[in-house]
Order: sequence, then C-alpha cells, then structure tokens
Amino acid sequence: MVKAAKADLKSLVLSELQEQLRELGEPSYRAGQIIDWLYQKRVDAIDKMTNLPGALRKRLSETFSLGKIDLVRVLGARDTTQKFLFRLADRNLIESVLIPASLALYGGRSDRRTICVSTQVGCAYGCKFCASGLEGFSRNLSSNEILDQLIAVEGATGEKIDNVVFMGMGEPLANLENVLRAIRIINAEWGLGIGARHITISTSGLAQQIRKLAEEPLQIRLAISLHGATDEVRNRIMPINRRYNIETLLSACDYYNAHKKQHLTFEYILIAGVNDSDEQASLLSQLAHRLSAKVNLIPYNNVSGLPWTRPSEDRQEKFLSILRGKGIAATLRREKGHDIDAACGQLRLQTERNEARTL
Ligand code: SAH
Ligand code: SF4
Repeated sequence: MVKAAKADLKSLVLSELQEQLRELGEPSYRAGQIIDWLYQKRVDAIDKMTNLPGALRKRLSETFSLGKIDLVRVLGARDTTQKFLFRLADRNLIESVLIPASLALYGGRSDRRTICVSTQVGCAYGCKFCASGLEGFSRNLSSNEILDQLIAVEGATGEKIDNVVFMGMGEPLANLENVLRAIRIINAEWGLGIGARHITISTSGLAQQIRKLAEEPLQIRLAISLHGATDEVRNRIMPINRRYNIETLLSACDYYNAHKKQHLTFEYILIAGVNDSDEQASLLSQLAHRLSAKVNLIPYNNVSGLPWTRPSEDRQEKFLSILRGKGIAATLRREKGHDIDAACGQLRLQTERNEARTL
C-alpha cells in the first residue's frame, strides 16, 4: 500500500496546527512554540525545536515533514538585482529575484525590498515572448516551496523582505490554492508579517480564477499582464487570449473591482513592431480608463532564441506620453541592464542546459 505523503509543517496555518496538536493530545501553547521555531528562529529540522519534549518531536517527525529548498547559485551584486537559483527535493530548479530597496520595480526609487517568487516549475501558458513557457510545464509548487523562497532569501542576505510579487516562473492563478495558502502565512502576524498591500499577484488573464480571487477577503494587489490592447495583438503573443478574450478578461476585472478597494494594474511589455504603436497606446488608455487601472510599461527583455526586441527609447517615451496625455497613471521602467523579473526563467534554463551538456 502506498503511504499518503506527510503534510509539511510550513504548509499549515496556526489554527490548523492547533487542531493537529489537539488531536495528538498536546496542549495548545505547543502550536505557538512550533510557529516561533519555524518563522522567528527559522530552524530547518524538527529536532532543533529544543523546548519541545523529545517524545513530541518524535511524534511530529512521524506525522509531518519539514522540507527545505537548496540554494544552488546567486547571480548579481548586492546593490543590484540578485537572482537566486534553488533546487527542490525532486531536483527541479526554480528561481527567485530580489530587487533591493534602492531600485523600484517600475522606474524611480523605492524604500522596499521586493522579492519576485515562482509559483510553478515551468509554465503551461506558452506566451510567445517568455522564457518560462519555453520548456513547458512540469508541476505546481507546494505552498511551503513558495514560502521557502522568502525564508531562504532572507536567510542568505540577512535582511528582511517587505514586498512580494508573484511574477517569477509560472502562472499563480493556475496554482491558486497553494499560492493563497502561502500568502496567508506570508501575511500573518505570526508568520512573515508582510502586509496584504505589499503582496501582488500577476496573471496572464485566467478570467475564472480572477473572479475566484475577487471573492477572497484578502486585500492583496492584482496585476494583469495585458501586453496588447486588441484581440488581434494579444492572440499573436498570448495563447490564453483564445480562451479568454479581452472582453471576457475585462469583465472579470470589473467583477474584481466591484469586490476590492485596491485598483488593478496593467502590465504591458513593449515589443518592437508588435504592440508599441500609437493606436495600441490609445486603445490601452481606454481599457485602463474603464477599470481605473494603472499601467506599468516594461521594455521587453531579449530572450535568447526568440525573435522579439524592445522598441527604441523614443518609441517607449512616445507610448508613455500618449497614455499620460489621456490621463492614465502610467510608469515606464527605465533602468538598463537589470532585467529584474522579466528574465525570470532564464537562469533556470541556462543551468539545465549546462547540466544536460555535462551529462
Ligand atoms: N504568469 C504570470 C506571472 C509571471 S510572468 C503572468 O504572466 O503575469 C511576470 C511578468 O513578466 C509578466 O507580465 C510577463 O509577461 C513578463 N515577462 C515575461 N517574459 C518577459 C520578457 N522577456 N521581458 C519582459 N517581461 C517579460
Ligand atoms: Fe507563463 Fe506568465 Fe510566461 Fe505567459 S508570461 S508563459 S503566463 S510565466
């Protein structure tokens, strides 16, 4: 008979842990002690929870697992964007990107340290410009693998993270249950204590899931990867648009707006000759106006093997000025050389190819 996999201790919220301990006949304060070991002292083994009786530690080890992710490589200097490559227990590779407080995600400066986390190994949505989609989809990350990216990066840098964006590898809304479970722990006072307004999910436009998220009480932020203001442009680069076209997506966004205080953001990668015309800018401003959405423009980052390029700086500025001229709150990411979240997926791909070569 196959034994059911043990639940990971870091996949449980406080009330679930209390319930489990009650079932083991333990006093409720034990849950608080365990949470303190996991999220304050950050131990990586049940045996290191030294104020728990030996018999309880044994029981816990029999009942739960306590996984970790292994840091394989760090790329980038401390004062710029750093990439962290992790190996999971099943040897799959994922990455996280840390953007330091001095750089903002979309131009300008920020006083927040932002982590960009992955939610899946690979991605099934196959956007034509994206490195994450190139090798297809392997699997969802568990909630503790998502959470562990923050814990491991804080551990490696010794500094607290105060902003989280779900813009790494994968489509967060295709793994919504695990993403929400991780967010509850990231957001909880007893967990990592990061405010909901400093947590952003980015989606390529899974309309049904946007409606589900709208019904969640959490006041997290939502960014929509639009990248085209007409179905014609979007169909060309984002296969998801054939399932949920722009009107279906925007009506899910209307529904989201009706349920939430925070306004949406549209992310819009500028790709030369594809979506960067004046006409697309005007149409985009109408869509943003309808939803009171902000627009973040991101010059495309080249992916080796793909034909797309970013427009000239003049074109980028012109696109921005059209949006602003129509009264839309829009930003353009200007810093060069730091390909930040945009290059998510590329580091993993490179390492996998090198490994394949040395086999
Ligand atoms: N799957 C989700 C979240 C991960 S992708 C989504 O698509 O929104 C995070 C963002 O990076 C998306 O807006 C995506 O379109 C963008 N992106 C992907 N490849 C990029 C590239 N080469 N240059 C710039 N942005 C890119
Ligand atoms: Fe997947 Fe997002 Fe990349 Fe599209 S842009 S392939 S949805 S990770």
